[in-house]
Amino acid sequence: MQIIQANCPSCSAPLTVHGDQSQMTCAYCNTPLFIHNNAGHLELSLTEQVQQITAAVADEHRKTREQAQLAQSAQQAANDRQLSMTRLNHVQDHIQTLIKEGEHGDAMRKAKAEEYKLVRQLGEHAPPTIPVTVYDYRRGISFAIITTVLILVIWGFFGGKPNLVIAGIIGIGIGAFFRIRTID
Ligand SMILES: [Zn+2]
Repeated sequence: MQIIQANCPSCSAPLTVHGDQSQMTCAYCNTPLFIHNNAGHLELSLTEQVQQITAAVADEHRKTREQAQLAQSAQQAANDRQLSMTRLNHVQDHIQTLIKEGEHGDAMRKAKAEEYKLVRQLGEHAPPTIPVTVYDYRRGISFAIITTVLILVIWGFFGGKPNLVIAGIIGIGIGAFFRIRTID
């Protein structure tokens, strides 16, 4: 009769396996085991019932782990949203202060840019934005220069002698109009 040393497939304990038997029970973990005689080579395996239970337990573990991960990412998303919401409230308070102070320059543009970013992050959870009229002098000056140059070029093109003063006055008027910009 063949006798070998093998490890329990369930708990890895060292077991003595007798070749004349077809089943045994692990002395350490009490798991019922099959003994296969594979052309004189003895192998231990879990019975089908134990395999099913083992698979079911593993499946249950996996589901629990997935649920825990889902709950964790939902919590993380809620925390992130809360942080963005707090920051947005702060930025909107700041915008109201800037409106009261009549500050329509870079500080207002920066605050509105941050508000826009946070509102996009928060999506449907965001409170309504505060539309603000700002004086964008960089934009106004660009419009004035471009308009003046265009008038001079077109004027020259149609054969007249371009007048810089008249073109400049029209350009400045256009620039003054386009310096006003509403951002919401
Ligand atoms: Zn065992």
